[in-house]
Amino acid sequence: MSEDRAMTIFERSRAGRRAFTFSENERPSGNLDDLIPRNLLREQPADLPEVAEPEIVRHYTALSKKNFHLDLGFYPLGSCTMKHNPKLHERIAALPGNARLHPLQAPDRSQGALELMWRLQGALGEIAGLPHVSLQPSAGSHGESAGLMLTRAYHESRGEARTEVLTPDTAHGTNPATVTTVGFKLVKVATDRDGGVDLDDLRSKVGPETACLMLTNPNTLGLFDSNIEEISRIVHDVGATLYYDGANLNAIVGVCRPGDMGFDIVHFNLHKTFTQPHGGGGPGAGPIAVSDRIEPFLPRPLVVRSDDGTGDAPRFDLDFDRPRSIGRLRGFQGNYGVFVRTYAYIRSLGAEGLREMSETAVLNANYLMARLRELGVDHLLPAAYERICMHEFVLSGAPMKRELGISTLDLAKRLLDFGYHPPTIYFPLLVDEALLVEPTETETRETLDEFAETIASILTEAADDSSVAREAPHTTPVRRLDEATAARRPIIRQQPREGVADERMGRA
Ligand SMILES: *Cc1c(COP(=O)(O)O)cnc(C)c1O
Repeated sequence: MSEDRAMTIFERSRAGRRAFTFSENERPSGNLDDLIPRNLLREQPADLPEVAEPEIVRHYTALSKKNFHLDLGFYPLGSCTMKHNPKLHERIAALPGNARLHPLQAPDRSQGALELMWRLQGALGEIAGLPHVSLQPSAGSHGESAGLMLTRAYHESRGEARTEVLTPDTAHGTNPATVTTVGFKLVKVATDRDGGVDLDDLRSKVGPETACLMLTNPNTLGLFDSNIEEISRIVHDVGATLYYDGANLNAIVGVCRPGDMGFDIVHFNLHKTFTQPHGGGGPGAGPIAVSDRIEPFLPRPLVVRSDDGTGDAPRFDLDFDRPRSIGRLRGFQGNYGVFVRTYAYIRSLGAEGLREMSETAVLNANYLMARLRELGVDHLLPAAYERICMHEFVLSGAPMKRELGISTLDLAKRLLDFGYHPPTIYFPLLVDEALLVEPTETETRETLDEFAETIASILTEAADDSSVAREAPHTTPVRRLDEATAARRPIIRQQPREGVADERMGRA
């Protein structure tokens, strides 16, 4: 049985075996060359496994059991907001009008989809406190690059060519990466003793060269920077823009708004805050909301509504007539399925529900942090900052490593044996042996209790015998992986089968 499960689907293949066969009258008649241009036709059939439907089902079910996912267990991966994805959204996204709409369909034949996008723009604008929204960016990091391109367009429109973008030293890796990719010079700002932006350091680093400060609030330490109004003043006084990395929006929806804090540009991670399933490399979306002064430069087209005042139903359209726009950021209009799920989520929770979502996320994080302290693990895994946290918090595994001889990595690997996805580890970089824990609002108190007790039991076990954690995981389909080689020399291609490889290489 176990040997059988290790077989690849290519090894199961038997010539001529099929899952499904089209009946005669479903097949196109005539010559294939008349249907598809000759230069696009394969010379040889694709090298696909030939298997029956039950084998396909078993193959994918077996793969899904090797993987860890949110529908299987608790996933407190800080910064990433792995919350439950309501199944209702899948039904709505699968409605034929949503799932089968062709991206090239003309606007007057896709009024419903455009209306949904227009309404979503409005809802996101309200949540951000910034009225103008583009749904185009496909991820948070894509929103960041859009934001810096907008910043450059804004400064150029005023005859300025500013070269520097500031990020705090706690920033997520995509922030400095975006700064460099878009062609700005990166300037790092220090963190003060309370975990916020060091104001004196910020004052000493801003100037006429500063294009933008990119910030997330609450920041990646899970702490709300209450100096945000002063930060905004410092940045705006030198004529720069203030960019909000919205990955931590889950902490504040309906409670406060980035626009009110003074931010000019905000991105959303719809796959984090707004329940688009993520983590497997599938589609996400990183819409942006901006202030009036940035609006002229937004990507085109924008989804607009026109009401001619005749009492006829309003019309929705794509507005390409935006001469100062930075242009298009992607093909078509964005990851529409993500918009459907987000819109379903916002409408099913409503304004009150969204606020409750954030309040519960913050409550759950503080509860879990307090529970760990109550279990007496804080001398080994102390909170990096002794403050009320927002939706996530950072622990330091440095004392644990010193006293028990197990590292944060060992603890993370041992958690896998208990059916948990580990928290984010070794980020933020400025905390030694960091664990960044984000429970999210969709977990029960019992789950949080069990998780805290599991951590306590792993520490007790390590005091007795540290090798169990150092050699973990013990129960997963694969043990410790060589992550450096996996990242540096990834094997991303199935090795061609013998014979087939030879044929493809033109060998007999
Ligand atoms: C996830 C994340 C990003 C990047 O967002 P993607 O959608 O993954 O591109 C940026 N900043 C922070 C703090 C994040 O957690």
